[in-house]
Amino acid sequence: MSIFHTPELRAFRAEVRAFLQQHLSDDLVHATRAGLHLEREPMARWQAALHARGWGAPHWPKALGGTGWNELQRYIFEEESAFADAPLGDVHGLFLAGPMVIAEGTAEQQARYLPPVLAGQEFWCQGFSEPNAGSDLASLKTTARLDGDDWVINGQKTWLSSGHHADLMFCLARTDLDVKPQAGLTQFIVDMRAPGISLHPIMTIDEGHSVNAVFFDNVRTPRHNVIGALNQGWTYAKELLARERVNNAQAPRTKRDILELDRIARTRCDAAGRPLIDDPRVRRRLAAITADFVALESAALGVLAEQMAGVEPGPAASTLKIRGSELQQRVSETAMLLLGQASVVLAAGYGGGLHAPDGLGWAERHFFRRVVTIYAGANEIQKTIIAKSILDM
Ligand SMILES: Cc1cc2nc3c(=O)[nH]c(=O)nc-3n(C[C@H](O)[C@H](O)[C@H](O)COP(=O)(O)OP(=O)(O)OC[C@H]3O[C@@H](n4cnc5c(N)ncnc54)[C@H](O)[C@@H]3O)c2cc1C
Repeated sequence: MSIFHTPELRAFRAEVRAFLQQHLSDDLVHATRAGLHLEREPMARWQAALHARGWGAPHWPKALGGTGWNELQRYIFEEESAFADAPLGDVHGLFLAGPMVIAEGTAEQQARYLPPVLAGQEFWCQGFSEPNAGSDLASLKTTARLDGDDWVINGQKTWLSSGHHADLMFCLARTDLDVKPQAGLTQFIVDMRAPGISLHPIMTIDEGHSVNAVFFDNVRTPRHNVIGALNQGWTYAKELLARERVNNAQAPRTKRDILELDRIARTRCDAAGRPLIDDPRVRRRLAAITADFVALESAALGVLAEQMAGVEPGPAASTLKIRGSELQQRVSETAMLLLGQASVVLAAGYGGGLHAPDGLGWAERHFFRRVVTIYAGANEIQKTIIAKSILDM
């Protein structure tokens, strides 16, 4: 029997489903289905609706706006949200900046920065990577120098996801040049509208705009905008990246995609008029994906259980990231194979309507998902972490 099939969890699932049916408007569903890179407005609107229900950040401590759910409730909530095509909120605020401010921030920072994330009023972006500091993040060159009551930041960051939607950035900058690279880094909160910041769009292979380059020219941020202790930014970055990797496994959204593959295989036919699912090669492929998904889901639930009990994710985050990202790529590749030419229904040209064509958005997802094995730390780097931390090699 599934661990989800208890009377309490069935009732909880029904409650979540009823909420989604009542509050998730058609235009939000369309935006999620068609749009690979959502605009800020639908994300903010849905986050506000969740917040009004008290479900704005289920994974945060209850005293700071969390729900107090266990991991199974959280998973059911995420699964039902994925099945209903509810938009994801501001991932950077909810899963990265928020937890870092909760773990390391002052009471003043928590009071100032957490409520607007919960309510969908303020969005964040992540300023870590630089043109010559990706995998080797500790070699980053952006500096911060104290001048009176302000830190003055100079340098360049790249690949800023959602930077153009963001009000705030958590930014890793060098504050001590005379120590080993990892020891001289500090986490700052930076206002994206501060003078001296310039943002430039980077277009990606799916022809979408979700990432940006940003330049800092004497950007000032107040002294109290340091997160945690000075020169401890590397430690906080490693913890944040582990949380990001857990989140990137995206098991519930992948489950929704796998169910869609199954539907496509059952309803579409080959040139001879036979349902695709009758082809043993299709069945074998879907079975292999499903088996790997079940393994990912049970591993993800184990890590979620620890997280909900307040334990920070360790190197297991790297295993989830590798398996989750590889599966996302296999799923969209399979969609392209099943759909053939029909996969090229570009979301940009889609006018809306509840009965979306089968192929909607798959081509963009397939191309953009080249990145899932790269961002949040390339999978090769995750393998090195596993070799060192888990296998003791
Ligand atoms: C679409 C997109 C969105 C992103 N969003 C953000 C964001 O919001 N904020 C942010 O800070 N960053 C972001 N990133 C940056 C991302 O984290 C980096 O791209 C990633 O860490 C890899 O760094 P790099 O691009 O410099 O590649 P490199 O580090 O140059 O790596 C290139 C290749 O070499 C391999 N390699 C490098 N070093 C080693 C090694 N020691 N052992 C084995 N193989 C190695 C890598 O695995 C990779 O395949 C984003 C990137 C993309 C593409």
